[in-house]
Amino acid sequence: MAKVAMVFTFPSAFQEQPLAYRLVKEYDLMINILHAHIRPSEEGRLILELSGDEKNNERGLKLVRSTGVSVQPLRDFVSRDEELCTHCTACVGQCPTEALSVDRETMQVSFDPEMCIACGMCKDVCPTGAMRIDVD
Ligand code: SF4
Ligand code: SF4
Repeated sequence: MAKVAMVFTFPSAFQEQPLAYRLVKEYDLMINILHAHIRPSEEGRLILELSGDEKNNERGLKLVRSTGVSVQPLRDFVSRDEELCTHCTACVGQCPTEALSVDRETMQVSFDPEMCIACGMCKDVCPTGAMRIDVD
């Protein structure tokens, strides 16, 4: 069972289609809507958490891309502002994947975007706003 958070960006001229329905029905995926910003005739954003068989996840996302919708992992939108980070370590214990870790000798906190699953826990506890998830 794979769980991924993905950002779907709909072009302004997108012809409405029952994509969520097809992901559930044809690919047996479970869908959790994390964020939606969709208005007629404007570019839209939808953030979905998809759970299911890994191959079905890939096939489902291929279907979505074939309709002209851009699909990116939510983790691509997670970043750390190095200027704002004070290496306080508050985020390290919250991170479920060790994408955030501390070097015990230097007490410097590192962020590895490749390990991030975009859960948002670090953003919630960061006192300086250094951790960001920039999707509008
Ligand atoms: S969003 Fe979640 S997984 Fe990613 S760095 Fe923050 S706490 Fe870790
Ligand atoms: S909580 Fe914020 S300021 Fe503290 S180490 Fe993490 S990113 Fe840096």
